[in-house]
Amino acid sequence: MEIINRIPRMISIARELRSEKRRIGFVPTMGALHEGHLELCARAREMCDTVIASVFVNPAQFGPNEDFEKYPRDLARDAELAFTKGVDLIFAPALDDIYPEGFSTYVTVEGLGDRLEGASRPGHFRGVTTVVNKLLNIVSPHFAFFGRKDAQQVILIKRMVRDLAMDVEIVVVPIVREEDGLALSSRNVYLSADERKAALVLKRALDRCRTLYNGGERDCSKLISSMRSVIESEPLARLDYLAITDTARLDALDTIPFDQPTLISLAVFLCDTRLIDNIVLNGEI
Ligand code: AMP
Repeated sequence: MEIINRIPRMISIARELRSEKRRIGFVPTMGALHEGHLELCARAREMCDTVIASVFVNPAQFGPNEDFEKYPRDLARDAELAFTKGVDLIFAPALDDIYPEGFSTYVTVEGLGDRLEGASRPGHFRGVTTVVNKLLNIVSPHFAFFGRKDAQQVILIKRMVRDLAMDVEIVVVPIVREEDGLALSSRNVYLSADERKAALVLKRALDRCRTLYNGGERDCSKLISSMRSVIESEPLARLDYLAITDTARLDALDTIPFDQPTLISLAVFLCDTRLIDNIVLNGEI
């Protein structure tokens, strides 16, 4: 159990682990760990010999008016939680080690990164794929674990790994929810008691969609307007986007196909807090 801050040390440990033929599992996070992150760590623990989690709040994936400054940070707490869940090493690099002066190399997954979350948060995915690429270079894991909570992120990272022939297998872990259905998120701490209740509207809208789908509805405009009316029934909620897309190109669909996975995703503001959630019909991403 160790917290590693410096890139050269992380690289040399990873090299040694690989030379000992240990399977490395990697869980990248921005900290403020909750049961969702810990579920990724648990999957990594099951599948790998050494589990490394990173904690790095990545400025490149935040927009100028987003919550980079106020994002919750508590490395000591994160480390304690992670280590009790069987994480072997934490990699918590400094900002200027990840982005040294003159940093000018970015990874962009074209097209996919401008849609859905990318349309609302320009530049977000460029920040994500760049930092994930760098972290994977440093940790050189056999497996890297990502939550389906951020479905578009998973789709982009898988595409990056395939396109650039990166030697890592991406493992996708289902969404961990509170008992009442709210998807766990580090941003849930921003919610007031009233907003926390209102936040259930995301899951309610997705449940409505699934119920209609199970009843035979395949028309996306009907499904979307039904979900929209659920969101609109909650006065504290403001819909950012709501989309039904395929999972390969993230194109909006008119009709849900019977033989292709379909992503239903949405983002909703509760006052200043922006929450996302999704379901996948007909398979997995
Ligand atoms: P973050 O710290 O928000 O960057 O998230 C780190 C990883 O945890 C990402 O792969 C997320 O998709 C995943 N994650 C966050 N929340 C959840 C959740 N409720 N269930 C499953 N995975 C999650």
